[in-house]
Parts: sequence; structure tokens; C-alpha cells
Amino acid sequence: MVSPVAAFARMGEENAFAVLARANALAAQGRDIINLGIGQPDFRTPEHIVEAAVKALRDGHHGYTGALGILPLREAVARRILRREGVSVSPERIAIMPGGKPAMFAAILMLGAPGVEILYPDPGFPIYRSMIEFTGATPVPIPMLEENGFAATARQVLALMTAKTRLVILNSPANPTGGVMPAAEVAALAHGLEAYPEAALLSDEIYDEMTYDGETHNSFIRFPALAERLILLNGWSKTYAMTGWRLGWSVWPAQLISAVNKLAVNSWSCVNAPAQHAAIAALDGPQDAVAMMMAAFDRRRLLVTLLLNTLPGVSCIMPKGAFYAFPSITQTGWKSKPLASELLEKAGVALIGGPDFGVHGEGYIRVSYANSEAAIEEAVERIKIFLQTKEKNI
Ligand code: PLP
Repeated sequence: MVSPVAAFARMGEENAFAVLARANALAAQGRDIINLGIGQPDFRTPEHIVEAAVKALRDGHHGYTGALGILPLREAVARRILRREGVSVSPERIAIMPGGKPAMFAAILMLGAPGVEILYPDPGFPIYRSMIEFTGATPVPIPMLEENGFAATARQVLALMTAKTRLVILNSPANPTGGVMPAAEVAALAHGLEAYPEAALLSDEIYDEMTYDGETHNSFIRFPALAERLILLNGWSKTYAMTGWRLGWSVWPAQLISAVNKLAVNSWSCVNAPAQHAAIAALDGPQDAVAMMMAAFDRRRLLVTLLLNTLPGVSCIMPKGAFYAFPSITQTGWKSKPLASELLEKAGVALIGGPDFGVHGEGYIRVSYANSEAAIEEAVERIKIFLQTKEKNI
């Protein structure tokens, strides 16, 4: 008998993948499944990005690269940050990784240990808590409340800080809620964190291009006082519809970058070379495909929120970012997970129960609107019929 070391018993999972597998299995049996479960754009990667990868292969870029990524790509990321945020970052502090996820893995592994506290959003991306538990650190949830538009407030975060806080994790625009932290809160928190020089901040800004209604994304990288302890997570997956390419970038404090390099050398060695060339084309090339995708997401956002609010017992605030709606379902009489599971099995609609993102997600479900308007309309109609006839189903 072999078994992994004890820490693996504390490591969690991401239920969105289990729901995707179940949805695919049902579809393979011939069931008509509408997938509003998985968090990935339904668009194809823009053609010029695909072409850049093909060309890179043809040009012979198929070998190992430096562990933190090829310099032209790290420079392209630095240019993007300068263009967008007006902040100059040395490419030396930028790491290219196989996805955005490895950056949170690395950050939490590096800073988490028994005896330290790590703050994280709840409901939030499930890997934060999973990795905190893995390291033996104490997870301290920051409740993401509907009355705050599902965004963290500076007051809330600062009230949870102690002498043991080693890392604060924030995510705006947010998965699973679509919440966006207002500029004033970001500034107040950046200022408040100056009183805690031992605490690092992991700001997951992977949805930074995805804000609506004139809402702006407010990056923590704009605050020089945090530069020595800010880990900024971002990547190509969402903005450029590149989830399966496994590409992400992150900016690290100078003191941590050699540990990131070691982690890369000890695990993935480097991100696959042609993908890195495609990533340059994504950042430096035309952005009209991004604008097209965002316009489509915006239409779907308005549609899905309008329709969800017509369902009996369901209420949904207008999400301001990402591509998720997070309706409250408490008045339907259902708990979140049984409802999500029954909707998949009985109505053929895949969604994720709020508790898969933390205890504060109970009473909600996550609806990813990365699907066509027709699919959204059909899915909500199926949910309506299900809710109206639910007594018959119980
Ligand atoms: N951060 C958040 C908040 C996410 O929602 C996701 C993906 O769903 C990631 C990070 C990971 O992205 P990637 O697929 O690039 O690893």
C-alpha cells in the first residue's frame, strides 16, 4: 500500500471540473446538456495568436526555455503593465507559468506554514483555501457579502489582520460572484496594509479586462508602497480565450523571484515554447477580438441577470465583472448543492453550487454566462420549469 503524505488529505479540489466531467458523461449518453458550469470563454483563441504558435513551431522554437519564460515575453508583459497601469516593472520580476493557477500555488506554498494566518475571499476560487490547508497555515475567510456587491472592503480586511497574517489573497473582478472592488476600497486597503509590513498580498487579477457598466479594474500594482510584497497574478486564459494553452504571468517581489525560479526548475521546467510565442502575439497584437468577446459577455450578462430575476425565489444582483452571475436561491426552498446537482441530472443544466466556493456561498449558485444567448435563454427556461414543478421531483 502506498499513500501520499498526510498533507494531501487536506488538499481540496475544484468542483467545477467534476461538474464538467459529469456534464460530459451525460452528454455522451445522449442527454442534451447546457453548460453554465465551467469558467472558460466559449470563443476560439483569436487566429493571429494561433498562427504565432504555429509559426514558432515551424521556426524551430520547440526546446526548453528559461524557467521563468523567454525574455521577449517577459518584456511584452512589462509593456502591457506599463500601458495599462502606468507602472514600470522589471521583466526580471515577471514569471511565465503554465496558467494563472501555478502562481497561487507558488505564493501559498512559499508563504504558508503552520502558525501563520492567510486571509482569502469566501466565496472565492477554491484553490486558495485548498492550498492554504495543504501548507498547514490557518485559513481566515474574508466574507464576500452581497450587500457589498460581493467585493471585499478595506475595513473588513484590515479588521481580520493580526501579527500572524502572512498573506492576504484578493480577487477582483471575482470568481464566482462577478464582484469588483471599487477604486476607493483598493486605495484604502493599500494604504491600510502599510501598517503590516510582514504581510504579503496576492492579488488575483486574471479577469482584469472584464468589467462592465463603466466600472474600472483597479490594480494593486499602482501602489508603490506595496511593491516589495505584492504578488500580482494574471494571464491569458480568460482575456484571450486560452484556458487550454496553460499560460499565465505573475509579478513578484524581488526577494521572492529566485524561489519562483527554483519552483519552476523543480516542477514544470518551463512553459511550452510555442505557447510563449503565441502569448507575445496576444499581448502585442490587435485587441479587437478581446473587445468583441467583451461586448458579447456584456450582452449575455444583461440577459442572464434579467432572466434569472424572473425565476420564482431567485434574485440576482447585476455582476460588474468577470463572466459569472451569482444569484441568491434561498427563497426557492432549496439548498445550493442539491439544487445544482438536480438541475444537472433532471433539467440538463450544469451550474456550480455556491458552497463549492466556501461556506459563505451557501444560498447561491454560480452561473457562468460564457455560453450563447440562445443557450442562456434555454437554460433559464429549463430552470424555471424545474422550480415550478419541483415538488413532483422531490
Ligand atoms: N484565478 C481565478 C479567480 C480563476 O477563476 C481562475 C480560473 O478559473 C484562475 C485563477 C486560473 O486560471 P488558469 O486557467 O490560467 O490557471
